[in-house]
Amino acid sequence: MSAVKIEGIVLDSIDYDDFAKIVKVFSKQFGILSFFAPGVNKEGSKNKYSVQNLTCSEFEIFKARKDEKVSKLKTGRLIVDFYAIATNYNNYVFVSILVNLLTQLLPPGFKAVNIYYAFKTVLENMKAKRNGFLNYAIFLLYFIQNSEYRLRTNRCSRCKKTTNSYARFEYTDKTLVCVKCLWPGEKKQPPSFVKIFSSFNEFNFTQLTEMIYNTNDLIVLHQFLINYLVDELGVFIGALKIIKNSAVMKINDKIIMNYQ
Ligand SMILES: [Zn+2]
Repeated sequence: MSAVKIEGIVLDSIDYDDFAKIVKVFSKQFGILSFFAPGVNKEGSKNKYSVQNLTCSEFEIFKARKDEKVSKLKTGRLIVDFYAIATNYNNYVFVSILVNLLTQLLPPGFKAVNIYYAFKTVLENMKAKRNGFLNYAIFLLYFIQNSEYRLRTNRCSRCKKTTNSYARFEYTDKTLVCVKCLWPGEKKQPPSFVKIFSSFNEFNFTQLTEMIYNTNDLIVLHQFLINYLVDELGVFIGALKIIKNSAVMKINDKIIMNYQ
């Protein structure tokens, strides 16, 4: 069996036996993958820095034939670490939610290069203390739009036509509705909010994170996405209580009326 080289970001690990770890990485080449890393808890181990949580490393592994089986580490070389993220509590919580999402919704062996690069961009931006909440919230939507759980936001769900002026994002069926198809009593939402959904797929992740957003739009978007992930997709988010009580979930009652 020959070793293969991969680049991956360590999401999680557990100690195993005396000096080993089982390490879960999000790899560029194979998506989510677990490997057995013998000896990495020994003091003199050359591989130990490469397998710490939130490091991006190059690994040489003996890859298991089946995606859900555990591979074995030969060598690991740290490329860059993202430990600094943990010094900001909010960003640390955001990243832990993204790790929940990746490990629970990406099937083993599902190759997702665009999601990999987007996740790495989020980590780089958070390490540099650039717009942590924005990066996190936009990643949640980016992940969904590049997965089988994609929202159908390319046309009006009622008349099936595309337009430049959608009136609202319909939370219940997760689609857009155009101005002409509004039912009596239904209101227009802020155009900047609706536009996030209608134009999202036209841009790459870096472009999406460099745009200017209205903070309230992001807060409402984030609330919707968290509910979708937890209630409909069944993602277990360890930090759910923390996030529900945090400022990023709080919005003025008057303002929220505009989004109903
Ligand atoms: Zn319509």
